[in-house]
Amino acid sequence: MRRGIAVFGGTFDPVHMGHLRSAIEVAEYLELASVRLIPASQPAHREPSVCTLEQRLEMLRLAVAKEPLLEIDERECNRPGPSYMVDTLASLREEFGSAVPVVLALGVDSFLTLSEWYRWEEIINLAHILVLDRPGWDNLLEEMVPDLARLLNECEVHARAPLLETPSGSVLRISLTQLNISASQIRQFVANGRSVRYLLPDLVADFILKNGVYKSGTDA
Ligand code: ATP
Repeated sequence: MRRGIAVFGGTFDPVHMGHLRSAIEVAEYLELASVRLIPASQPAHREPSVCTLEQRLEMLRLAVAKEPLLEIDERECNRPGPSYMVDTLASLREEFGSAVPVVLALGVDSFLTLSEWYRWEEIINLAHILVLDRPGWDNLLEEMVPDLARLLNECEVHARAPLLETPSGSVLRISLTQLNISASQIRQFVANGRSVRYLLPDLVADFILKNGVYKSGTDA
């Protein structure tokens, strides 16, 4: 097993098979013992979550309880104020040192918003960025804002070696198993009284039903 840390941040409102399958395949691709799922306590770059942090955490716990390749990292939950990824990566660096490879995995939709993130230009000095393709987002990289195009131009690599052998600084795009599932679709299905079975783990579907969350359809 290799040395290195991979993180997959998100609102996880709720966690679903798209997140879980991607994170498992990132762990395998990078030959790491696990990937850290990092729930945002107060999402910084999007609208507030529908479920409370405690509910989102509980759904994550139910989802990963039996999966050693996935662990929950609660560092953003314990930090007051908005959850900025740059702070999260800096705190990982403080904990694990400057030499260890750190990989920030995110979907291409998130990557396309990167230049709007707080102190975004520092992120590439703290971590590598692993961009995961998502169905329906194929051509959007062509519509990148100039700042992001410059980052890709300067930092893109086409092999995983730099992500395993250096601490930070590379951007790699990969296609793993792509599941066309999103949390907003799941919330919409619940609001419309439709089944969400098999879009997310059974225990998470049970939690949603039992607690009556997402029924009021706040995204509609
Ligand atoms: P929403 O629909 O509410 O925007 P989401 O399903 O995109 O939510 P988030 O928690 O916002 O989930 O996303 C966390 C991370 O997971 C982001 O990097 C996002 O790109 C990625 N992601 C979400 N769904 C998938 C998926 N089906 N496949 C791959 N990556 C995904």
